[in-house]
Amino acid sequence: MRTGAGGASDVGRVRNANQDSWLITDRLWAVADGMGGHQGGEVASQVTIEVLADRFDEFTADALVAAAQAANSAVHERASEHAELRGMGTTLCAMALVDTDDDARTFCVINIGDSRCYRWRDGLMTQITRDHSLVEDMRAAGQITEAEAAVHPHRNIVTRALGIQPDVKVDAFDVVPVAGDRYVLCSDGLFNEVSADRIGATLRRLEDPRDAASELVRQANEAGGRDNVTCVVVDVIDATGAVSVADAPVDSSDRPPDLAGITTALAVDEGPIESSDRSERSGKRRRAVDPDPADRPTVRLRRATWRTAGFVVLLAAVLGVAVAAVGWYARGSYFVGVDGDQVTVFKGRPGSVLWFDPTVEARTGITLEQVPATLRDAVVSGKQQSSRADADAYVARMRTVICTDLENGAKPATTVAGAPTSTLPSSCADGSGPSKGSTAPTSGVTGSKVPTTKRPSTTVRHTGTR
Ligand code: MN
Repeated sequence: MRTGAGGASDVGRVRNANQDSWLITDRLWAVADGMGGHQGGEVASQVTIEVLADRFDEFTADALVAAAQAANSAVHERASEHAELRGMGTTLCAMALVDTDDDARTFCVINIGDSRCYRWRDGLMTQITRDHSLVEDMRAAGQITEAEAAVHPHRNIVTRALGIQPDVKVDAFDVVPVAGDRYVLCSDGLFNEVSADRIGATLRRLEDPRDAASELVRQANEAGGRDNVTCVVVDVIDATGAVSVADAPVDSSDRPPDLAGITTALAVDEGPIESSDRSERSGKRRRAVDPDPADRPTVRLRRATWRTAGFVVLLAAVLGVAVAAVGWYARGSYFVGVDGDQVTVFKGRPGSVLWFDPTVEARTGITLEQVPATLRDAVVSGKQQSSRADADAYVARMRTVICTDLENGAKPATTVAGAPTSTLPSSCADGSGPSKGSTAPTSGVTGSKVPTTKRPSTTVRHTGTR
């Protein structure tokens, strides 16, 4: 199993301090985005990286999660000891190569907050982690689209961070390493400025992970650099055999001049750790990823064709589901209304929904003028029922009221003079109507589901210096 990695970080173009920290060792890679004034952000992210590296001493997923929790405790304790650091916290997105029970190796990715891990495979980007942020919650609940989330003014509000509480919940994902895969761990300063597609295009173009990381940071700055920006690129060079790190010939002389402003923060000083300090920085000559220019058009065309086909299929599926949903809504209930002058049970919704018109389910033999005055408005506009049984029960109760009134000699309030009240409704005489004692199921009160968004108990607002 051979991996290669490169990282880069920069303060950006607006902030005056870099609160991000990052880590590269032979089996552990991490990005932390600190928050909190008075250097709290820097301290939180650095302490986290230090403790994570120190405590990840067994190569297991459990050890990685435990190390993150130890980092949480360390940051939380430090904050409670120093008034000026109170409230500091940090995101943490880390990936480790861990041993599984069956002697295999896999990646374990953990996440707290809104730093991300993406996987680039065969030219496609997949986001491995899920942000713990208000905007991601809204997107997941369907309240906003992905495009709206990407530009939402509150996208800096995280719902989980390391160091804020005595304990923290850590999301963990197993990811099987496949040769050729590239992973990007990054702070929001990257993905808020550079789209995932563009990150993917850069990974395609720049084979060396150090070059790719530096170029991504440069692109974030070029796009505005409104936040600290950090990324670590991890390559799976060979997915078999013992763990080793890619050989990296040291040669920093060919760095492009546009990377001159990039500085890095690295807080760990032991272990086989690569920092991107300029003197240590190694870089192979930049090479284009596409090895054979002749292959490229074919590959791209095939990909585009599959994408188009996939999109069409997806669109058709979405439309189909939408039509079915409207139909289900339109057809999925009953109501008691009036057809001509006769009270009638309909299937559908009062009025009509799109092209789904209500259909007649049963005629009741009750004319509108026999309907008790108190029910008449509801029936004229269509009294909705959640089921056919409810609709029948509603009609039955109406019939009972009419029959009772007839027995008591009272005429329906607005009976037209001379109308033969004794002929209707027919069920009064034969007793087929419901008896007074029978309790028809209550209708009309069907629970309506109001979408509720579970609000996080603790909401951490990134400070202005994040
Ligand atoms: Mn940030």
